Amino acid sequence: MTGYPRPIDAPSPELLQRCVHCGFCLPTCPTYAVLGVEMDSPRGRIRLMETVWSGRVDVAGHTFQKHIDQCLDCRACETACPSGVEYGKLVEGARSQLELARKRGPLARLARTVGFRVILPRPAVLAGFVRFSAIARRLGAARVLRILGFGRLGDLLALVPTRVSSQRLPRSFAAIGARRGRVALFTGCVMRAAFSDTNAATARVLARNGVEVLVPGEQTCCGALHAHAGARDDSRALARRNIEALEALDVDAFIVNAAGCGAHLKEYGWLLKDDAKWRDRAERFASRVRDATEYLAAVGLVARPGAMRVRATYDDPCHLLHGQKIKDQPRELLRTIPGLELLPLVEADMCCGSAGTYNVTQPALSKALLERKVEHVVASGANMLVTANPGCQMQIDAGLRAARANVPVMHVMDVLDKAYETA
Ligand code: SF4
Ligand code: SF4
Repeated sequence: MTGYPRPIDAPSPELLQRCVHCGFCLPTCPTYAVLGVEMDSPRGRIRLMETVWSGRVDVAGHTFQKHIDQCLDCRACETACPSGVEYGKLVEGARSQLELARKRGPLARLARTVGFRVILPRPAVLAGFVRFSAIARRLGAARVLRILGFGRLGDLLALVPTRVSSQRLPRSFAAIGARRGRVALFTGCVMRAAFSDTNAATARVLARNGVEVLVPGEQTCCGALHAHAGARDDSRALARRNIEALEALDVDAFIVNAAGCGAHLKEYGWLLKDDAKWRDRAERFASRVRDATEYLAAVGLVARPGAMRVRATYDDPCHLLHGQKIKDQPRELLRTIPGLELLPLVEADMCCGSAGTYNVTQPALSKALLERKVEHVVASGANMLVTANPGCQMQIDAGLRAARANVPVMHVMDVLDKAYETA
């Protein structure tokens, strides 16, 4: 890494050396599937990180930036790797290196600061921004922006969901029937600003199954988007706030319904590993985080859902499947709904192109992956697509709308909640 300080998160030789360059991960990599370029495969990117480590390639050079930026951080390569390479840690470390070296113009720096430090950590500001965008989209602003030559902005606006909800949840939901558990709901930033109905649905489904749910008001954004973009100090600041706000609660688990947030919260120990004051607290906090489907499948449903006549298919969010290794639990829960036919989805384990801010930073690649996903969803014959992450929901919903496919996209907890309404 010539001429730049090496951040504490930079990929270490210990992590890099686990890769034996066997190439088993290549067929699972979405960017390799689309581009067919070795440098856009996990193995190629790991080689690039090694060359940067040894000082043979400049971290600020075009090659490193291009191929690291083009990675989705979807972690499909981690699932495929027989050598236990922790690729997510590597690529996020590489992005923190890039962050120090990258030259941004004043406008780009301002946009990043406003997005990461002003909007995301403040739910009210984010909710206002989302509501304004939703109105603009309904009034056809996306088309107008494209006609005026701001195609990228128009594409972004098209991602805003048809229906957004940002109402405040009660501070707690009492368990219905005998109490079997007590949890705290992590409400997230995008979830709270655009999908608070899903947060409420998650709490109701837990409560119906004998779980008391607390909704602590002091929590903030988990910092996943910051970490994916290389802003790890910002992410650490948010992590400390969340740990402080939640760690003393007398609950069995911190429940998350957004896969990207869950994967990141479970890695708070790694994020704060070099902070002697916070490391142990972060590890303890992370060990208590559970995805909503993971927790519910483990405790088991005691309330029987009502029937739904629907042909559904399920798309795995990358940070649930590859980041948290949760594959069967959402499907098991969906199968408890009488009348719901669960159809297979080709490439359900492949990224839809949403990937944090990827659809903003890499619009062409993101679009190629989305079109591939939409083709598979339509071919599945399903009349409902179920997933478990807000980013995937918005991305696939936008793709299906653009393709004029009448397939609503729902979160698994919303589907369960709806089934309970009919019970
Ligand atoms: S990341 Fe794993 S699967 Fe991919 S080349 Fe390296 S060792 Fe092989
Ligand atoms: S994280 Fe995803 S896009 Fe990046 S190298 Fe791994 S499989 Fe490919």
